Amino acid sequence: MKFPDALLIDGRWQTEAGGGRLELIEPATEEPLCEVPAAGKADIDRALQSAAAAFAKTNWSRRTDRADVLYRIAAGIRAKTDELARLESRNVGKPIGDALWEVRAAARCFEYYAGGISRFGGETIPVNAQGLDYTLRLPLGLVVCIVPWNFPLLMACWKVAPALATGNAVVLKPASLTPLSALALGRVVEEAGVPEGIFQVVAGRGSEIGDYLVAHPLVRKIAFTGETATGSRILKLAADRIKRVSLELGGKSPNLIFADADVEAAAAAAPLAVFGNAGQDCCARSRILVERSVYDRFLEALVQSTRQLNIGDPASEATQVGPLVSASQRQRVERYVQLAKDSRGRILCGGDRGREPGYFFNPVVVDGLPPDSRVCQEEIFGPLTCVIPFDDEEEAVRLANQTEYGLAGSLWTGDLERALRVAQRVETGVMSVNTNSSVYQEAPFGGFKQSGYGRDLGMEAMRLYTEIKNVFVALPESEPT
Ligand code: NAP
Repeated sequence: MKFPDALLIDGRWQTEAGGGRLELIEPATEEPLCEVPAAGKADIDRALQSAAAAFAKTNWSRRTDRADVLYRIAAGIRAKTDELARLESRNVGKPIGDALWEVRAAARCFEYYAGGISRFGGETIPVNAQGLDYTLRLPLGLVVCIVPWNFPLLMACWKVAPALATGNAVVLKPASLTPLSALALGRVVEEAGVPEGIFQVVAGRGSEIGDYLVAHPLVRKIAFTGETATGSRILKLAADRIKRVSLELGGKSPNLIFADADVEAAAAAAPLAVFGNAGQDCCARSRILVERSVYDRFLEALVQSTRQLNIGDPASEATQVGPLVSASQRQRVERYVQLAKDSRGRILCGGDRGREPGYFFNPVVVDGLPPDSRVCQEEIFGPLTCVIPFDDEEEAVRLANQTEYGLAGSLWTGDLERALRVAQRVETGVMSVNTNSSVYQEAPFGGFKQSGYGRDLGMEAMRLYTEIKNVFVALPESEPT
């Protein structure tokens, strides 16, 4: 398999860069996978200078065929579905079935925003004056997209597609652990005919180039997905120049199971809601809240269905859960397992290393922990879920909201009125009823509270890559003839 080995800077593929090399390890084997160059500050500067120049000099934002270009990007992704999925699977340790889903969703994302171009614009406003008032949606200019390692290609496309659709120039920085699919995306975008310099990909270490990238005077907006702490740092740096920022951050999402739900269906679905992608999912439903009258029944079924998960080789289509992305991510989960034990939590299954080699870890179900304990409050980003009982709807909502995060949530009930009530009261940006997920290309996705602000997906995302300008044209009333 050929791995991408160059950065896309200033319209050229660069095999050497000032930040040294990123040595990638394959999570499923612990063997070296490949190396890519790491951008240094001079590389970042060049990328940003040339992207800003391309925005100013090319007519990308005014081109009437931008939708055609985006459709070609989607077609390019589709044509490379297997290659991109295998790349992502080997780089992240993601089961191949999940990686294939991710690549198809990435193509659909470009198709959606290609279609969005002709449906997105300003409006005319009946102001209290003689004339015509209308708004324009204008591109921001140079947008930097910074993405994490858990869904590298999809998180990148969620930002790059609406940013390009609205006519911006884009510099994409993937996570150091997982730059490969972003670099491959660079090829696809180039082949689709995006003008030189309008899209660049700069892999590099966030600890070395992140601040420089964010604070650079040419950057108008930072679209970020990652940890809350990194988001907070970006926000502070952006404040100096009043840059636009959108933040998709961490989560500690609740899954509420009411006694009137189909308890067995909820227990069968719950493992993949938290252990999918080995728990490295910002939406992982890692706090399962269960009404006390069905608590034991649910817990037994949950543990049973967790034990039945197919954990193994990411290359196998039957695999549901692969390894964690890195040794340090596995150590992090191990520390939380120890913390759960120290806090007298009951480990009901898992909690130990799985097959070796590889950063495998058997999914953990813990109960008996106080809802305000660290394990129940902090984002672990690994295969560990806490189960907590509640007595009534009021307590369920209180516990669901007892976190600084507010990204996602699910609730299971047979009572429609309760579903509507609770879905509204839980403080999260997305909420699913009697199913695991409510994330769709067409619908807005993002967080409340410390899970960030701004939205990916849907038409909402297009708004966030534009400025709105209001124009008033005086039209003196003409005399009737
Ligand atoms: P992270 O450490 O915050 O890193 C995210 C990205 O930021 C990476 O590209 C990283 O580069 C870069 N970065 C690091 N320091 C930076 C700085 N000072 N300035 C600018 N960029 C910097 O997050 P992660 O560990 O990769 O990802 C896991 C987190 O992402 C979790 O908290 C998860 O909940 C969150 N997430 C949220 C969503 C959502 O939609 N809400 C979706 C997916 C993931 P390096 O890799 O080089 O350090």
